[in-house]
Amino acid sequence: MTGKILLYYKFQPIADPDAVRLWQRDLCESLGLTGRILISPHGINGTVGGDIQACKTYARKTKEYFRGIEFKWSEGSADDFPKLSVKARDEIVAFGAPDELEVDERGVVGGGTHLTPEQVNELVEKRSDVVFFDGRNAREAEIGRFKGAVVPDVETTHDFIAEIESGKYDWMKDKPVVAYCTGGIRCEILTPLMKNRGFEEVYQIDGGIVRYGEKYGNSGLWEGSLYVFDKRMHTEFGAPGDPDFVQLGHCVHCDAPTNQFYNCANEPECRHQYLSCEDCRQAKPYCADCATAQISG
Ligand SMILES: [Zn+2]
Ligand SMILES: [Zn+2]
Repeated sequence: MTGKILLYYKFQPIADPDAVRLWQRDLCESLGLTGRILISPHGINGTVGGDIQACKTYARKTKEYFRGIEFKWSEGSADDFPKLSVKARDEIVAFGAPDELEVDERGVVGGGTHLTPEQVNELVEKRSDVVFFDGRNAREAEIGRFKGAVVPDVETTHDFIAEIESGKYDWMKDKPVVAYCTGGIRCEILTPLMKNRGFEEVYQIDGGIVRYGEKYGNSGLWEGSLYVFDKRMHTEFGAPGDPDFVQLGHCVHCDAPTNQFYNCANEPECRHQYLSCEDCRQAKPYCADCATAQISG
């Protein structure tokens, strides 16, 4: 059986998220799809996997309600997800700003201007003061980011509002700022929050790093690996061994170059993901904090 994974999001007003939740759950169950779907009054965000025909049916039926929704198809199957989870929440990405986000039939209101990957490069050629602003958590940026990007000190999307209100980034308020994230959904929410706080010229990349990397690989303005939220934990653009690829991450124990994250073995007390080389992972499967505590304890 050939399987596929669908990734998608769509911002549009949903009057009754709970009704949409029930419909989506029934639809997935009837097609044997598994994965995660979040629905809020502002839209839907999901990743589901299963048989290719089931995925096609799911996409067609979902489009009837979410008009214009784009599905990103990738390799995989229902086996990549242990179960089906369909939830209704205040937000489809937890920024802690459900009342600030405004959405109409065309999408998010007051967000950053969308740029194609080509337009990103044109903007950088035209303007010398473009600032790339990482819209992910700081850990993701350790192994890959746009060249010269500003990486905010955030552990989760919940930290962004305090961070952009801290004053640390006021110097970029009158500069062209290109916010970016993995597939674009986080910047749909982050960019209006930035504009509401005085950032005057804010852009976001259509399709995020994924689309930019598909277009330019390692020969554009992107550098390093892309953090991904599945068991691989990272992926690279371009062919294996591409001489233009730059390894940005370092082992927390010995500083050797690596782009491999691991979960600290001291679970569930410690939930850190940390970068490690293979040798150090074998010798001490702990994050830097826990490894220090073990030695001194
Ligand atoms: Zn090491
Ligand atoms: Zn730890």
